[in-house]
Formats: sequence, C-alpha cells, structure tokens
Amino acid sequence: MNAPYPIRGRLAPSPTGFLHLGNAWAFLLAWLACRKDGGTLILRMEDIDPDRSRADYADAIIRDLRWLGLDWDEGPDVGGPCGPYVQSERLSLYAEALDRLASEGHTYPCYCTRKELRTLAGAPHVGDAGAAYPGTCRTLSPERRAELEAAGRRPCVRLRCPEAAYAFEDAVAGPRSATLEACGGDFALRRSDGVVAYQLAVVVDDGLMGVTQVVRGEDLLVSTPRQLALFDLLGFRRPAYMHLPLLCDPEGERLAKRHAGLTLASLRDAGVAPAAVVGYLGHKAGLLEAAVPVHPRDLLPAFAPARLRTLPARVRIEAGLADTLRT
Ligand code: GLU
Ligand code: ZN
Repeated sequence: MNAPYPIRGRLAPSPTGFLHLGNAWAFLLAWLACRKDGGTLILRMEDIDPDRSRADYADAIIRDLRWLGLDWDEGPDVGGPCGPYVQSERLSLYAEALDRLASEGHTYPCYCTRKELRTLAGAPHVGDAGAAYPGTCRTLSPERRAELEAAGRRPCVRLRCPEAAYAFEDAVAGPRSATLEACGGDFALRRSDGVVAYQLAVVVDDGLMGVTQVVRGEDLLVSTPRQLALFDLLGFRRPAYMHLPLLCDPEGERLAKRHAGLTLASLRDAGVAPAAVVGYLGHKAGLLEAAVPVHPRDLLPAFAPARLRTLPARVRIEAGLADTLRT
C-alpha cells in the first residue's frame, strides 16, 4: 500500500463491549500495516450508536490496546490536529455532510417501516445491509410526503445511489467491484431517530482526518463500495483498503462478545501476558514460525500484505487457547 503521500492509518473501535481476541487480531494487523509504512496512526472511538456505546467500554478499549503494546499518534487520549477523535463529538460535521448531499439532490427521506421492509416479497439478504431496499420512497410526491409526515411517520434519510460499479484493489482480498444495487441498494445515512449511520460517519471521518489506508476485518468488505460512493460524492480522496481474514473459534464462528473467555480483560485476569497474545496472533498471521512471546514491533520486519493473502478466509483458533496462552 505504498503511496506518494504521507500514510495515515486508523484504529476505529466501537465501544460496545470489551476488546476480544478477534479485535486484537484486526488492530494488531492495522497497526503493523501503518507502522510498516512509517505512517501516522489515529485512534478514533466510533460511539455513534447511543444505544450500544458506553464510555466505560471506550476507556477499557484504550487500556487494552495499550496493554497489547499498540500506540497511536492522534486520538481521544493524546489529541491531534484532526480532533475530536470521538464520533459523538463530531455530530455537526456529519450534519454538514448530510446537508451538502441533500442540497445536491443525492438523498431523499424514506418513510418505510422496518416491518414494511421485511415483508417485501423476495428481498434478498446481502451481508450486513439486510434486505435490499427497493427504492420505494425515491419518487414520493411532495403531497404524499406531507401526508406521511402528518400521520406522524419520521423518515430516515437515504442516499440515492449512483448506478456505477465501484471497483477497488484490496491489498489482501484482491480486486473487487460491485454496484450499490448489489450491496443493498439505497442505504440509510441517518436513521429515523436522527442517529447518523456508520457508513456516513466513517467516510466523513476518514475524509476529514486524511486517512489514506483502511485496514479492517473482512466483515466490512461489503460496506466498501458504499463508502467509496460517499468519498466520491463528498469530494474526498479514496483511501487504500486492506480487508483481513476473520479470526474464528474452532468451529469457524467469528469471535464475538459471547466468547467471553477471550476478551483481553479476561485473558489478562487469567494471567496471560500481552506478549503471548501478540506472539500467538503473529503466528496465526504467518509472521512468526512459532507462537513465541513478542512485542508488536518485533513483527514489523516480517509484516507484508502478501503474507496475509495466503491465509484462509477464516483463521481458526484452537480449543482451550486461553489455557495454552497462560503457560
Ligand atoms: N467501528 C467499526 C467496527 O468496530 C469499524 C469501522 C471501520 O473500520 O471502518 O466495526
Ligand atoms: Zn422507503
């Protein structure tokens, strides 16, 4: 991911739970990708969803990332020129971007209820986009809108998606191309309760923070064409992408909150050393011959996106790993 301009990477955790081994995997690799290129690293707290985000999780995430040995140059705890680095403090920037898209005719209000969207016959499921939105409200007349408003319906705001295919070269996942239709159609930029959608917040932030490389889990690959469309419409330069294979349990299930024994906090409480976690993850990533304890910086010489390309799409951990790591 070499570029003729200064590299800026980011770690973008959502404080909706404690960091687990799967998050540590993604953040370690994102840290390596940025540091390998001599880049500047940003920590951005993505607490845009008020129902799921908690300040104590945000504090715990910072503690756990530091415990692992990761560092950053800009962030909520260290400041920097592109702050604030907490999404809930950036709402006016998202509102400005929405206004701009609206004034250029790129958005429209959608009054459909969840139930209506669910019952649309034959709606295909497309990744995290849910059922593809059929564009029902694209062409509502002003009279019909007024009626719906009068009936108390509160609209979400959707992007009127361009028809183009969005192509990009992923440093690990390879060349990709998709239309937004295939990614779920016109997507929401703001929910009916006023909460800004992840897709918009992440692009406004990556754009305004000058992020040049996005390294994150493969689960977000499906979001990338939508984000590219927003980068283009808002006039930001597109970043380069690296989507990582997901770390999974022995059954191939993606690591998540319910794997409670695999949070960094519980591993630490069980007496696991951070170097053991980093060495294990480095080994799983193909950067170390054996899972020996190391500091993240010890993985820098071996790090290369090409190595990650040889990994399976789902990297499985072994049963009883928490015990193995302790010894
Ligand atoms: N905050 C998002 C998450 O935790 C990641 C956003 C991104 O990397 O684009 O899933
Ligand atoms: Zn609608």
